[in-house]
Amino acid sequence: MKNAEISKRRDAAISNGVGMQTQVYVERALGSEVWDIEGNRYIDFAAGIAVVNTGHCHPRIIEAVTKQAQAFTHTCHQVLPYENYIHLAERLNDLVPGDFAKKTVFVTTGAEAVENAIKVARAATGRPAVIAFGGAFHGRTFMGMSLTGKVAPYKKNFGAMMPDVYHVPFPIELHGTSVAETMGALHKLFKADLDPDRVAAIIIEPVQGEGGFYPAPAELMRDLRKLCDDHGILMIADEIQTGFARTGRMFAMENYDVVPDITTMAKGLAGGLPLAALTGRAEIMDAAQPGGLGGTYGGNPLGIAASHAVLDVIEDEDLCNRANALGSRLKQRLESIRARVPEMVDVRGPGFMVAAEFNMPDGKTPNPDMTNAIRAEGLRRGLVLLTCGVYGNVIRFLAPLTIPDDIFAEALDILEASIDAVKGAAK
Ligand code: PMP
Repeated sequence: MKNAEISKRRDAAISNGVGMQTQVYVERALGSEVWDIEGNRYIDFAAGIAVVNTGHCHPRIIEAVTKQAQAFTHTCHQVLPYENYIHLAERLNDLVPGDFAKKTVFVTTGAEAVENAIKVARAATGRPAVIAFGGAFHGRTFMGMSLTGKVAPYKKNFGAMMPDVYHVPFPIELHGTSVAETMGALHKLFKADLDPDRVAAIIIEPVQGEGGFYPAPAELMRDLRKLCDDHGILMIADEIQTGFARTGRMFAMENYDVVPDITTMAKGLAGGLPLAALTGRAEIMDAAQPGGLGGTYGGNPLGIAASHAVLDVIEDEDLCNRANALGSRLKQRLESIRARVPEMVDVRGPGFMVAAEFNMPDGKTPNPDMTNAIRAEGLRRGLVLLTCGVYGNVIRFLAPLTIPDDIFAEALDILEASIDAVKGAAK
């Protein structure tokens, strides 16, 4: 069977609405490598979009999931509960930033974690409105999509968004938007459009993910925390993409000197098993009435078992420090390439949540064509890369944190050769 043949069947069988980054049909994956059905080998710098931070098929995660599958795969925790669910909540309540009593809810996807964080915030405050940022990504459900700050493809043709959702610009110095401007926009919003006493929450990604890997400045986090405290607004940190050692800390919010009231998690939480969670101040999390939160699959036993193993592996293999080491090697290499590729206008990101941004030779206009060409060239040479950004002009690097040094070095050579090939072809 060939990738192209399946791809044709895919076009006939699967909705157009599901996007495709590659036509590489996977046969197996291990650590940071993937093999397709034609026997081609790839180095995976996508990790299933920041999910397998602990690598594909980590033996400890496979062992935990296998053991759980042999015991039971599903009872629904609301019907017949199991202890490892409670224990995982205890672990997250300890790990999530914030020196106060916390409680957790398990759900299945990132979008669902966001939905539930908003439900909890509304129940706890008795207020309806929510504020998010331009360029944000919070999921594809109605509230997730409404909070998302990018029209195409996420909102286009999907009709009315949820009411009482407001966006302000995210501060990105590279694009000329300062923290003062963002805070000014919030103050203007409160004067012109929205009574702050009606705001339940402000939701923020500590590093914007899909939006382009832009870290929130420390000053912004501080100012937002103060604004929230002044007006009784809850602060929600969406750590779905930043979580679980990716930024060099277990959670990206540990890189700041303020803490959120609620944290949403998914992706790296369970190493590829569908598990998501929200953890927050106990009194806030208790505001919803029994039965108001949860779901059939929320906290599925296989995901819970996987997540315990993920947390153990992050600790035992010192993956936070590994993220910092890998990230600094990658950034050094990118900076050296940048010296001769002026289209690469920025290299950034905490830990191993690193990205490079590409503009036209004028230095200002986004260059999605070059960005996409590098991604395609990387894939042709055996390196799976992802793009992101509101303008599609950012390459994000999300290899598993367990990638061995030799494979990492090989990947950096492929990356450099791919950029050079695209740059050479453009001359
Ligand atoms: N929030 C953030 C920050 C994300 O990166 C994502 C996924 N890219 C989501 C929410 C939605 O998660 P899911 O795709 O699991 O619904």
